[in-house]
Amino acid sequence: MNAPIAIIGTGIAGLSAAQALHAAGLEIELFDKSRGSGGRMASKRSDAGSLDLGAQYFTARDRRFVEVVQQWQARGWVAEWTPGLYNARDGLLSASPDEQLRWVGSPRMSAITRALLGALPVKFSCRITEVFRGDRYWSLQDAEGNSHGPYSHVIIATPAPQASALLAAAPKLAGAAASVIMEPTWAVALGFDTPLDTRVEGCFVQDSPLDWLARNRSKPGRDNRLDTWVLHASSVWSRQHLDLPREAVIEQLHGAFAELIGCAVPPPSFTLAHRWLYARPAQTHQWGALADADLGLYACGDWCLSGRVEGAWLSGQDVARRLLEHLQ
Ligand code: FAD
Ligand code: NAD
Repeated sequence: MNAPIAIIGTGIAGLSAAQALHAAGLEIELFDKSRGSGGRMASKRSDAGSLDLGAQYFTARDRRFVEVVQQWQARGWVAEWTPGLYNARDGLLSASPDEQLRWVGSPRMSAITRALLGALPVKFSCRITEVFRGDRYWSLQDAEGNSHGPYSHVIIATPAPQASALLAAAPKLAGAAASVIMEPTWAVALGFDTPLDTRVEGCFVQDSPLDWLARNRSKPGRDNRLDTWVLHASSVWSRQHLDLPREAVIEQLHGAFAELIGCAVPPPSFTLAHRWLYARPAQTHQWGALADADLGLYACGDWCLSGRVEGAWLSGQDVARRLLEHLQ
C-alpha cells in the first residue's frame, strides 16, 4: 500500500513542503484547525475590506526564495510594496526611506497560500490533537474524536508550542520544539472615514507600546473605502497585556497611534483587535527543519530558521528535501 503523507498546518511552511512533495509525485493530505489557509499570513475579511493582520510584507534574501518570489510575481500572486516609510523613536517621527524590496500578497496577503494550496487535498476546521504510529503507518486524531490515516509520514508545520505536543512520538524533536519560546503580538485595525493627513504609510516604532504601523490602502489592490491602519504592539507590551479585553487593547493602541502619527486622529468608524499568541520565535535557529527520518516524523516552520515568511518557506523546502532524501 502507498499511503499519503500528512501535513498538519497550511501556513507558508506547510504549503512550501506540500508543493515540493507534490512536485516530486508524492501524495499528500493537509490539515488545518482554521477555516482557511495562511496561518500568520492569513488576511481577515472585515467591513473595512480584507486586512493583513499578521505578516505585513516580506523580504527575500536567500537566492532560492528570491527565485520563487519572482515566479509568484509573474503569476500575479505578489506585488512590490513601496510605502512611504518612517521611523518613530522617543515619540519623534522621521522619514526613513531605504532601498529594500518588500513584497505583499496581491490583492491580499492570503492570496499566496491560497494559490499554493490550489487543488491539493485539505481538511479545514480540523484541529489535530494526537499523532501516533502503528506497526507501519501513522494515524492522526482530531479534536472531534475522528481519526485520519493511514499515512506513511507526518509533517508538523505548526508554531513550536503546538508542534511539541504533536511530536510526542519523537521525544527529541518534541524537546527541541518545546525549547522554543514564541512571543505574542496584539494587532489592531482602525478605519477612518476621512483619510488621515499624513504621508506615513509604514512605520517602525521604538520606545512605545507599538512596534509597527501600516496604512492598508498603500498596499497594491487593497480596498480603500476607509483609511484603515494596522497597528502591531511590541512583544513586551503584548506579553504584559495578554489578557486585556479587546476594547481596552484598541483604546490603548489607538492612544499610542494618535500620539505618534503627528496629525489629527478622529474617532475611528471601524475597529478590530486580534491576538496572535505565537507570533514570533524569540530567537532564530539554524535547524532548517526537525526530522526523525527512520520514524517518518518531521516538523518545519519559521521557528526552525528565522521568524519571517522567508524562514518559514525555506523550512518547508528543507523538510521536503530531507523526506525525499530518505525515500531514495
Ligand atoms: P503559521 O503561519 O503559523 O502556520 C501554522 C498553521 O498551523 C496555521 O494555519 C494553524 O492554524 C495551523 N495549526 C496549528 N495547530 C494546529 C493543529 N493542532 N491542527 C491543525 N492545524 C494547526 N514575517 C515577515 O516576513 N514579515 C512581516 O512583516 C511579518 N509580520 C508579522 C506580524 C505578525 C503580527 C505575525 C503574527 C507574524 C509576522 N511575520 C512576519 C511572521 C510570519 O507571518 C511567519 O514567520 C510565517 O507566516 C510563519 O509561517 P508558518 O507556516 O511557519 O506558521
Ligand atoms: P526589513 O528588512 O524591512 O526589517 C527588518 C528590521 O530592520 C525592522 O524590524 C526594522 O527594525 C529595521 N528596518 C528596516 N528598514 C528600516 C527603515 N527603513 N527604517 C527603520 N528601520 C528599518 O524586513 P525583514 O528583515 O524581512 O523583517 C520582517 C519584519 O517582520 C520585521 O520588521 C519584523 O519585526 C516583523 N515581524 C513581526 C512579527 C510580529 O509578531 N509582530 C513577527 C515576525 C516578523
